[in-house]
Amino acid sequence: MVICPFFNSIILKRRLSLLLLLITSLILIAIIVSEPKNKIPENIKSEVDIALHHFPELEGIPIEFKFKKNIKKSVMQAQPTWSGLLKPKNKRSYKILISEKFKISGEEFKTLDVPRDVLIGWIGHELGHVMDYQERGNLNLIGFGIRYVLLKEFVKKAERAADSFAVSRGMSEYILKTKRFILNHSEIDEVYKNRIKQYYLSPDEIMDMVKEQDSIKDNNLL
Ligand SMILES: [Zn+2]
Repeated sequence: MVICPFFNSIILKRRLSLLLLLITSLILIAIIVSEPKNKIPENIKSEVDIALHHFPELEGIPIEFKFKKNIKKSVMQAQPTWSGLLKPKNKRSYKILISEKFKISGEEFKTLDVPRDVLIGWIGHELGHVMDYQERGNLNLIGFGIRYVLLKEFVKKAERAADSFAVSRGMSEYILKTKRFILNHSEIDEVYKNRIKQYYLSPDEIMDMVKEQDSIKDNNLL
């Protein structure tokens, strides 16, 4: 029996699309059942551990710390993983990218060379972002990414939220050191410094926040 070539190609097409569907489903299942773990490079492990210690809520949330050759406009960047966005909120995982270097008077400066407390403050700020992300639903988080790229006012809100989380978890000393390190280094790239002034909490605002928290604590003790 001879099958008409037309039907033959239809059968082939169907088989191909079935195969494609099968492969896609397998990839999705692999993503959903995968259980990412914390990944911390050995050379920043002690700094990350100190910062993480301030955020007991983040225990069990997989965060991968990863060095990148260069990140545009920032030294570190916290982001949810794509696979995590397909899962319920409590199964999400995150990535914190760390730029290997940033610029001082046009010269490159290694992130690992900054004072230890400054590095801890920087990591604390990124963990503050993760705290903020954890309070958002998946769709809201995707919207967050879009708004962050488009709206300056939103960047300000998000950066202040990250600082506030870190300060409220007892990291004010570290956050202040990071801030002062950036603002007091006249050699640091002006563009980056202006960005810090424009979007982040100022040292004075952080001090006010600490004072406010202390007075709340005192009132609770009375
Ligand atoms: Zn930030």
